[in-house]
Amino acid sequence: MEFKLNSEQETIQKMAREFADKEITPYSRELDEKEEFPWEILKKLHSVGLHDLAVPEEYGGPGIDSLSYSLIIEQIARGCAGVTVTSSANGNSLALYPLLIGGTKEQKQRFLPTICKEGKLVTFSLTEPNAGSDAAAITTTARKDGKHYIINGAKCFITNASYSHYHMVFANVIDGSGSKKPSVFMLESDMPGVTVGKKEKKMGLRCSDTAELFFEDVRVPEDNLIGKEGEGIRLAMKTLDMARPSVGAISLGIAQAAFEAAVAYSKTRVQFGRPICKNQGIQFMLADMATQIEAARLLVYQASWLKDKFYKDGTPFTKKAAFAKVFASDVAMKVTTDAVQIFGGYGYTREFLVEKYMRDAKIMQIFEGSNQIQRIVIAAQILA
Ligand SMILES: Cc1cc2nc3c(=O)[nH]c(=O)nc-3n(C[C@H](O)[C@H](O)[C@H](O)COP(=O)(O)OP(=O)(O)OC[C@H]3O[C@@H](n4cnc5c(N)ncnc54)[C@H](O)[C@@H]3O)c2cc1C
Repeated sequence: MEFKLNSEQETIQKMAREFADKEITPYSRELDEKEEFPWEILKKLHSVGLHDLAVPEEYGGPGIDSLSYSLIIEQIARGCAGVTVTSSANGNSLALYPLLIGGTKEQKQRFLPTICKEGKLVTFSLTEPNAGSDAAAITTTARKDGKHYIINGAKCFITNASYSHYHMVFANVIDGSGSKKPSVFMLESDMPGVTVGKKEKKMGLRCSDTAELFFEDVRVPEDNLIGKEGEGIRLAMKTLDMARPSVGAISLGIAQAAFEAAVAYSKTRVQFGRPICKNQGIQFMLADMATQIEAARLLVYQASWLKDKFYKDGTPFTKKAAFAKVFASDVAMKVTTDAVQIFGGYGYTREFLVEKYMRDAKIMQIFEGSNQIQRIVIAAQILA
């Protein structure tokens, strides 16, 4: 077993780190304060090839391995988790996976090269007001009408809803007998009947757009059905499996940023005539933070590596992906909270970024399958 990145991975990691230091971190406070969508940074990420990371070369993406992609996400999240989620909800982790794993070659050719070339955004539209953790409870419908489906329903908490050109929408196909077949469709945002609703005001990830989406009698060509009728939940669950190492990587980036800030501050803040890092009480906190981050990193890298094996030969990785998501996000919450503690009262102010890291970390325990749901997934695997 080799615990070493290859030279290509090291180069990519360094490039992403330098990009984050120069193009993201200096703007992250302002983006957070203004709740401003990070278009300019997204364009730069796109121009240097750090966007739509999961898309293979034949469809216009960079075609990199999943570990490299986690390395990039981790570094970008060190700069700002809101920017990272904006980019990764697209082709890095979430929205494009149903197409990548369930679409036909023709569908991939139709959508992906344009999305990658022009940096267009796509939403992953699954959650509804009464269907959060219980994704199978969605009530959005798709009724067949000749060579079209007519889609009606409402989604909530959809990342990038206001800025996307496409929406990957989960809906139940209702046939003549009234039976429901959960399915997934690629919609264009300018199709008549698609509207964006309320934009959420959030605790963290404040530059990332989160909004409602409504579909009223939207006519969608049958060719836009991704996979077969009835495959929607399978594709949603597989997509979420694929996304979990990325949530773990974002969590790692947030935790690493908070840890580095806490170490630096503890060396300069003087109380009782010496830097606070001279106290064993602070040293033990720093040692625990470093240990937890390292353990989370190993789980995230392992799950990312397994994701590629799943792509190649179907090796199951559901449990390892859930390990990575649940552990890394819990670590991010703990480490960022401890970082605020090390900063004392100053950590509670908006003068320093540690309070932002703590707010950003919280959502990592909630979305893309809450940490309770991850534990259900893990327990089911253990007891199967
Ligand atoms: C910033 C943000 C961005 C998001 N982006 C997207 C997106 O792009 N696309 C999308 O489709 N969705 C998105 N979501 C929705 C997100 O995935 C859901 O919020 C999440 O799945 C939880 O659903 P819920 O909020 O309805 O909580 P609920 O399902 O109502 O859960 C409430 C609480 O109960 C717990 N719980 C529920 N069931 C169980 C159980 N069986 N056992 C134990 N505990 C349980 C949960 O863990 C949680 O703590 C986003 C949400 C946010 C806040």
